[in-house]
Amino acid sequence: MKQLIKQCVISAANQFGPHRFAGFGRDPQLWVLMYHRILPKDDIRYSLEEPGMIVTPETFSLHLRQLKLHFDVMDLSEWLQLRASGKSLPRRACAITFDDGWYDNYEFALPIIQQEQVPATLFAVVEKMGTDFQFWPNLVSALLASNATKAMAEHPVFALALQQVPSVTDTSDREYMAAVIRTLKQFSDADIFAALDAIEWQQHLAFALPRGLMSWDELRTMVNSGWLKVGSHTCNHKRLNNALPTADIMHEVVDSKALLTQQLPQAIDIFCFPNGDYNATALEAVRNTYTAAVTTQRGIVNARTTPAHQLCRIGLHENVSHSARLLGARLSGWT
Ligand SMILES: [Zn+2]
Repeated sequence: MKQLIKQCVISAANQFGPHRFAGFGRDPQLWVLMYHRILPKDDIRYSLEEPGMIVTPETFSLHLRQLKLHFDVMDLSEWLQLRASGKSLPRRACAITFDDGWYDNYEFALPIIQQEQVPATLFAVVEKMGTDFQFWPNLVSALLASNATKAMAEHPVFALALQQVPSVTDTSDREYMAAVIRTLKQFSDADIFAALDAIEWQQHLAFALPRGLMSWDELRTMVNSGWLKVGSHTCNHKRLNNALPTADIMHEVVDSKALLTQQLPQAIDIFCFPNGDYNATALEAVRNTYTAAVTTQRGIVNARTTPAHQLCRIGLHENVSHSARLLGARLSGWT
């Protein structure tokens, strides 16, 4: 019965959501879509990632074809410029964004973007591009996939998180990994990296870790395709909340723009808050440094009322968008 109601809601949202109808007298709207990773199901990186972070290349290709039917797919900075100058905007526009700068975006998203001729914005973690940096959720997933819970439990940070998640027989299960990662978010990034170092995580991996982020040359190749703009996603992906000293907030916000400007032949004018977190200091610094910023707040941007530095987005991942019907329901903002 529950399943049936859910299917009805999905169908109704797909057919009658605001992505289908401009609405008489309604303000122009912008759907900012948030992607992270584009990976095939048989790739080892797929098995080591939280389900909420991935769509497959086939699904991404389906999305672009569908989006072109429903929206004016635009470059985000172009839409913002039109709005700022008071020019007329499409009733329903859509902008594609990628967070972090994953190598798989270069491998799998770029060819599809070029094929479908759709603009996109990529938010780079500036000091980590071209390094062997791994985000802590991927290290935690790799440890769980290596059956290393015993070694992890020797540190109080991991011991607590593992206790709080119902135990399973297969610790490489992706839903289990995602639950452990969610639980760990009660700790700061610095505490989690310190815990990883303390247990000497490298010693416990059963396989070589696949590469995370793309190189500067790969990013420049994406830019030179003519379809990609780049924005800042900070220097080190630190969450910009009260746990972070003001000097560090300023470094993450201001210096990341300077570094991107040195590396790339384009103006850098949009920022993306890691994990969607920001305090008053961070918001003020971002307002003073960039013309706009995106958050992880779910919603559709209203051209008249949504502040430029707190743009909401709609996150897309495989489970909620692998068919045209599911995608439509997600775009309605109702599911
Ligand atoms: Zn991020």
